[in-house]
Amino acid sequence: QSKRNGRAQATLFENEMLTDLRYTRLIERELRAAIMLGELELVYQPVLRRDGSMAGCEALVRWRHSLRGMISPAEFIPVAERSVLIDLVGEWVLRQACRDMREFPEMYFSVNFSANQFKRDTVVAMVQSVLAETGIAPPRLVVEITESMAMSHSEDVRERLNALRSLGVKIALDDFGAGFSGFAYLQSFPVDAIKIDRAFVTKLGTSAASNVMVTALVSVAHAAGMHVVAEGVETAEQHRLGAEAGADLFQGYHLARPMGLAAVRERRASKERLAVDGPPVKTLAF
Ligand code: C2E
Ligand code: MG
Ligand code: MG
Ligand code: MG
Repeated sequence: QSKRNGRAQATLFENEMLTDLRYTRLIERELRAAIMLGELELVYQPVLRRDGSMAGCEALVRWRHSLRGMISPAEFIPVAERSVLIDLVGEWVLRQACRDMREFPEMYFSVNFSANQFKRDTVVAMVQSVLAETGIAPPRLVVEITESMAMSHSEDVRERLNALRSLGVKIALDDFGAGFSGFAYLQSFPVDAIKIDRAFVTKLGTSAASNVMVTALVSVAHAAGMHVVAEGVETAEQHRLGAEAGADLFQGYHLARPMGLAAVRERRASKERLAVDGPPVKTLAF
């Protein structure tokens, strides 16, 4: 058997037997290149007030791969999180969002952070310097961290979240309710807002118990001085019931899909308003 055939066979074998680890390494290598090549992009999903106006938007990363097309963050963020790549991606996302959002000074914007980014003692300085470099007022930035991630590294995370808050940056607990850390946890965690997980929002209207559950979540959060975003609102009924339960802000396909910057611009200028009624809203800090 020639050397050449041997190699061809080995390659084929490897492709068929790709282990998770090898796949991870492959993605890592490609992702590193992607950052350099400018293959990462941001889309923004509007977050609406009760009156339908845009309070802000959430930056969501996409990877436009030259061969494989659009890759979802659900696929590559978990891989990035296993190495320092998450720091590169995280800093890129923050800087790009800050640059883009200079155009809309009246809106807040949120950026998702991996809890692994909070393992580095450089994270606070990184945020501070990107804000300074881009001229973004710290209170416009909301850092989103998932409830489950926040729980699993509570000491470091808590300390650095506090440091960010003392810069004036806001913190939101993402996917709240999905991790079941629950009410007690809210008391001890320094956050400005919770985003009620889509799993709860989806159940609105399906049983009296779900409506009661969301109403309870909202009132505990409000009592603790936090704002409440209902995320994953897919229907007019979920929108209405979410507002009835007291949520301050709304995000979901029913209201707006994630979109490019030009579409955000248009949406902001548009007079179209998806308004909804509910109990009186607190004055929103963002
Ligand atoms: P997330 O932060 O909870 O973001 C919400 C996800 O739900 C987004 O998916 C959004 O497109 C989707 N979504 C919004 N409204 C609806 C709806 O009404 N129905 C349904 N079914 N889905 C809706 P996406 O963009 O694929 O992001 C998935 C997750 O990836 C995000 O969940 C977030 O955890 C993570 N992610 C996205 N961008 C970044 C990033 O820049 N950094 C980090 N660390 N994570 C990110
Ligand atoms: Mg989020
Ligand atoms: Mg979420
Ligand atoms: Mg989510």
